[in-house]
Amino acid sequence: MTEKAMKMKKLIKSIWVFNWFNSCGFAELVPVVGSRWDMERFGMIVTGTPRHADALFISGYQTLKSIKKAQFIYEQMAEPKAVIALGACTMTGGIYWDSYNTIKRLDDYIPVNIYIPGCPPRPEAVFEAVAKIFKHVGEME
Ligand code: SF4
Repeated sequence: MTEKAMKMKKLIKSIWVFNWFNSCGFAELVPVVGSRWDMERFGMIVTGTPRHADALFISGYQTLKSIKKAQFIYEQMAEPKAVIALGACTMTGGIYWDSYNTIKRLDDYIPVNIYIPGCPPRPEAVFEAVAKIFKHVGEME
């Protein structure tokens, strides 16, 4: 097993998450952290610094100003890391697709491992996306 695969294997057990939400993007993850779905049951813990995070949850429309902060956050995260983009706004700009200062597609600015469609996405879709990330990491062994 390579060193990188061994590091990635750690992600299978638990991931620490850093959240970067703009606008109503925050509301997308509220059901996931709430008591009904409770992402902590799966070892997903929100951390206060990108330097400790394995995964970046990013949602909401990103402006030309805020995307610079998102890039800075991404650069601070140690490898291996995953970016999970939630909602239509990260994929297309959403309802702000024709705004002069809103980006259209997040992976033109930072690498995205998985997009979760919806406005907002269902909690089931968020967990399915996270499970796919875990499976992908497992297959890298
Ligand atoms: S996808 Fe919908 S819920 Fe999410 S930030 Fe955009 S408008 Fe808000």
